[in-house]
Amino acid sequence: MELNPFIRDIPDFPKPGILFKDITPLLMNATAFQHSIDLLSIQFAGQKIDAIAAAEARGFLFAAPLALKLHKPLVPLRKPGKLPYRTYSLKYDLEYGQAELHMHVDGVELGQRVLLVDDVLATGGTMAAGGQLIEQAGGTVAGCAFLVELAFLNGRAKLPNYDVFSLLTY
Ligand code: 5GP
Repeated sequence: MELNPFIRDIPDFPKPGILFKDITPLLMNATAFQHSIDLLSIQFAGQKIDAIAAAEARGFLFAAPLALKLHKPLVPLRKPGKLPYRTYSLKYDLEYGQAELHMHVDGVELGQRVLLVDDVLATGGTMAAGGQLIEQAGGTVAGCAFLVELAFLNGRAKLPNYDVFSLLTY
């Protein structure tokens, strides 16, 4: 099944000059959504993964079903002020602005291998920050998985030490 038809281009969102890849058509088609999770799970089923981590909000949409399918713990990476317990945190640059990501200090245990998941790889800043949070906690990044990779933004350059996998590349 082709997933490409379920990704919609939205020009000038959220700012003029940005061509936004809208994944909501895929979410609204249960067959396509299921297929995307199946493909991701096939890719990582044989690998040693102890947990799955994802940044809010769209990352959760793919990480949660993948975590259930692979039967792994799900670790939320969130914006400031959202997580109730003690956190590690990191500031980083986005394609459109600045951001800060937090993770509970007990989200990842020493030596755990964590798969990072997000809907879109743009500049790579979010994933790089997620990777640093996991490493702060003593974990290792087992890989980075995306539905969509915007190759022209060269996000992989920010993730040189990680195994990057995406289902669709533009
Ligand atoms: P980054 O630039 O850090 O790789 O991406 C920043 C965040 O914004 C990521 O969580 C990514 O999901 C989201 N993002 C950036 N560009 C797009 C886009 O074109 N479409 C969607 N759906 N999300 C995007």
